Amino acid sequence: MNHKLYPVKDIERIVGAKGNIADVEAEIRTLCYDSRKLTDIKFALFFAIKGRRDGHSFIPEVYEAGVRNFIISDFNFDSKKFPEANFLTVSDTLKALQALAAYHRSCFTYPVIAITGSNGKTIVKEWLYQLLAPEYNIIRSPKSYNSQIGVPLSVWEMNEDHQLAIFETGISKAGEMKALAAIINPTIGILTNIGDAHNEGFSSVEEKIKEKLSLFQNTSLFIYSPFYLKNYKGEIPGKKTFTWCQHFKADLEVIDDEILEGKYEFLRGKFQNGEIQSLIPFTDAASVENGICCWATLLALGYSPEEADKRLEKLQPVRMRLELKNGINNCSIIDDSYSLDISSLAIALDFLNQQNQHIRRSLILSDIPEAGPDTDLLYSQVANLLQSKEVDQLIGVGSEISKHADKFTLEKAFFPDTDTLLKNLEKLKFFNETILLKGARTFQFERISKALTQKVHETVLEINLNALEHNLNYYKALLNPGVKIMVMVKAFSYGSGSYEIANLLQFNKVDYLAVAYADEGVALRKAGITLPIVVMNPDFLAFDTIIEHNLEPEIYSKRIFYDFVEALNVKNKEGYPVHIKLDTGMHRLGFMPDEIELLLSLLADTPAIKVQSVFSHLVGSEDKEEDEFTRHQLKIFEELTDQIEKAIGYSFIRHIANTSAISRWPKAQFGMVRLGIGLYGVDGTYKDSSPLQTVATLKTSISQIKELKPGDTVGYNRKGILPDGGKIATVKIGYADGYSRKFGNGRGKMLVNGVKVSTIGNICMDMCMLDITGLNVAEGEEVIVFNEQIRVEDLAQLLETIPYEILTGVSQRVKRIYYYE
Ligand SMILES: *Cc1c(COP(=O)(O)O)cnc(C)c1O
Repeated sequence: MNHKLYPVKDIERIVGAKGNIADVEAEIRTLCYDSRKLTDIKFALFFAIKGRRDGHSFIPEVYEAGVRNFIISDFNFDSKKFPEANFLTVSDTLKALQALAAYHRSCFTYPVIAITGSNGKTIVKEWLYQLLAPEYNIIRSPKSYNSQIGVPLSVWEMNEDHQLAIFETGISKAGEMKALAAIINPTIGILTNIGDAHNEGFSSVEEKIKEKLSLFQNTSLFIYSPFYLKNYKGEIPGKKTFTWCQHFKADLEVIDDEILEGKYEFLRGKFQNGEIQSLIPFTDAASVENGICCWATLLALGYSPEEADKRLEKLQPVRMRLELKNGINNCSIIDDSYSLDISSLAIALDFLNQQNQHIRRSLILSDIPEAGPDTDLLYSQVANLLQSKEVDQLIGVGSEISKHADKFTLEKAFFPDTDTLLKNLEKLKFFNETILLKGARTFQFERISKALTQKVHETVLEINLNALEHNLNYYKALLNPGVKIMVMVKAFSYGSGSYEIANLLQFNKVDYLAVAYADEGVALRKAGITLPIVVMNPDFLAFDTIIEHNLEPEIYSKRIFYDFVEALNVKNKEGYPVHIKLDTGMHRLGFMPDEIELLLSLLADTPAIKVQSVFSHLVGSEDKEEDEFTRHQLKIFEELTDQIEKAIGYSFIRHIANTSAISRWPKAQFGMVRLGIGLYGVDGTYKDSSPLQTVATLKTSISQIKELKPGDTVGYNRKGILPDGGKIATVKIGYADGYSRKFGNGRGKMLVNGVKVSTIGNICMDMCMLDITGLNVAEGEEVIVFNEQIRVEDLAQLLETIPYEILTGVSQRVKRIYYYE
């Protein structure tokens, strides 16, 4: 916890910057690049990185927050507005970040392990952390921080209390590894495996392997499987190597594997002319391979086969998930199961900070299992962190954290262990707040989670927030410079959630949100959403509500115009933002082209309103057959908006593009686009291979399993028949959950244990039956209704409908869980 302080002058020299220094006394200990995630303000150095957005544009906000040290790349930057700040100017801020991390790395002489490969990097890193923790105080990359920014930030956390570092790296195109290798400068290298992933960024597999191996150029020990390099003709790095392989000659040759008791993989191998064995508490192929890689590493590091076996047997599953769910007493529960250390606590607190739905934020935190001796410093740092992240209440669990109670200046309570906390849960009176649970594994915080979460029906819709952000960024990257983005969160965000999704969109700085009805907008305002919100279907009766909550109505007809202006006049409002809808061919809502004169006369001389935007909607942007009509709509839209602009004498945002138009019609972007279903991973533009990620997984579970005799029938009206008998599973989802009755009698398929099985008989209201004949499954097991394998698009096709209807049809009684991984 003892991070070195760097005088600003040293930083200037290390990164080769031109300094404009107001305070030479400044010292640096924390690096940041995201204006939304600032900590340790006094000792922070902000890197203005040019990514999708230019980090320079956030400098005022970051300065306002108190940061006084900046690395920038704009030599003409006007620093006068920031008189107290130090500006270090370099030609490339990302390279400066990397150079600083490389320098920091060079200050330490303890061993540094670097891991790369196509799969398994994070698991192998986390497992080695578990396996080597008894001897070493280890610093490792948090979660899967393995990118061009993630690696330097991870390396920056090294300090002199550590005894071993483990970093993972991920690259997606040629040339990236060189920078990472220079930062990490590993002494030990591990290649997990080489698959086909990320081949797009490389000219050949050979090139990809060569690039990955360049990480290990200077290692004294390189651990790998020759199986993955069998066609590679280049040089193998490493002064020494240690190889492992299944059924091939290697330093560790795995000669036999067998599953024991359905939950252990029993491995036998040849090592140094003898036979050795190991038991790994996992049986799936990927875990077994990762386990063997760790086994090889232990042997290569000199652990005896017996010791290695003893440790491998105790491997724990790696939990990466951070879940957001509804809790008791109108609380939101954030359950972070990733192992506890200060950097993962900071990440989780950032997520807590993103939640606006409740004003009050509490943290339940256990002892931090850190081997370092200086717990004083550690808990002071935690206290600082809690202050900068504006946590209202701390509940500490464990004897260590309790000892440091004095350091925390917020509202607080301490318990010696999880049991005592659970006994006192009622007294804590959690109500209408967001609660983050962050506990070390031994504290079993899953028990607290269970006690705080509403118990409901076990069918859940899981929303992958990483995937959602990926999709958002994918569409943002398609936008021309300056084009704004409105995200459609109508109909409960296409079935996926309300403020949970809006919080994330607000955090990611989209420009607008849109809802169908005023009520939806009010719910978002009550949950702390401050983004502008458009109401597409404003109702006469809701006008007061709209004005009261600062919502912006769509004005689509003369009648709605007059009514709204009247409501504004009653309240003496002027310049109220509205959005004018034109009908260019949809023939739903909107002013028709022949009403344009009327519209212009309405807009003239109405100080009550201000036209914020004028928009229209495409009827078939995803449909090739309708391209001619789309062009026609675009042309009319352009003409009409030109006319309006001329007449009213000020400019407004123009927008017409929905999801498929963003991907298919770059010309349709105008000043803003309206992203809808694409955010959730569905876009008709991409038929076979989609760059989008699946966001929603609908899951249920098996209530009962039955063996049936030949001729037995299943369900209402005896529609399901098993002529030869068989086995059925009753699962907890029916048409009242949104699983259409049309999926009955074999039409619908679900995944049980990875196998696609068919429905049998009619779908009931709350349940349905699956034919699981021949499958070895147990009651209580999970069943997937849709995910990336059973795609919403395919289900829609089966029902002759569109994915929108499937997504929005998942009923409100199905619990939503949001997660990051
Ligand atoms: C729903 C909606 C959208 C979004 O459409 P997607 O096809 O889901 O992207 C855009 N504009 C309007 C007016 C809408 O109602």
